[in-house]
Amino acid sequence: MTWSYLRRDFLPSDATCVFCHRPLHSEQGIVIADGDGTEAFTGPSCAKKHLGQPEDRLLDVTSLALLVVADEPAAAADPVSTPSQKSDPNYAAESKTPTATSRPPLPPLDAVVQYVRFRCEVMTDFKFAVSKTLKQAHDEYKATGAISEDVEKMVAGAMRNATADKTVLSPANVKLCIGFEHWLKEAVQHTSVDRREFLESMLSTLRRYWSLSSGQVRAINKWGEHIRKKNDDFPHLDEDVFARVVLPDFMRRKP
Ligand SMILES: [Zn+2]
Repeated sequence: MTWSYLRRDFLPSDATCVFCHRPLHSEQGIVIADGDGTEAFTGPSCAKKHLGQPEDRLLDVTSLALLVVADEPAAAADPVSTPSQKSDPNYAAESKTPTATSRPPLPPLDAVVQYVRFRCEVMTDFKFAVSKTLKQAHDEYKATGAISEDVEKMVAGAMRNATADKTVLSPANVKLCIGFEHWLKEAVQHTSVDRREFLESMLSTLRRYWSLSSGQVRAINKWGEHIRKKNDDFPHLDEDVFARVVLPDFMRRKP
């Protein structure tokens, strides 16, 4: 059976993961479909394992959220899921099917528009998210559906420089920030109000510096053990996801 990503949507209360059969407790989850259009639900770790990274054509936080999920979750030794996976005849076939190759390639993205929208529409709680040029680009995009050539060139140049210099402003790191923020917000939701201090401090660090250290991600993963007691599809996050990114000088200054 060949599955492909469909959308992120609200989950029914009895939703289970089609791959590992565990109940899914998140309010919203990943909806996938097979070749016949049959829909099913899956958790983030299984989605990444069985379907790979979704194409990032849409402004869809799901695809960005999966960028920061660790490839080999430590919870893989879960005694509940392993036997049922092995006994399921679909399991072996599914895990070997390269689902991404069965669909035609997507049209190329307008990477500049996507970047402008990420910075101006999605990173609303991040410090320094909107610069003067980005605001101009976004205003033009909203008004006309396009960005004028001069402004587009400025944004594209800034994107290219950020990528070359490996700064936190690069398009790749912007996606990681949005993905990571998603899981931190999810973690906060699954934590009682009086115990949220650590997660909220990590959230404000991420929004201030557009990155977290490996040690901070490790601490979040430890915290994740609490969350998995209630919400067992909460994933392990990649501890090296922000390794080697550079903070530009203007972001080093005290707020
Ligand atoms: Zn699963």
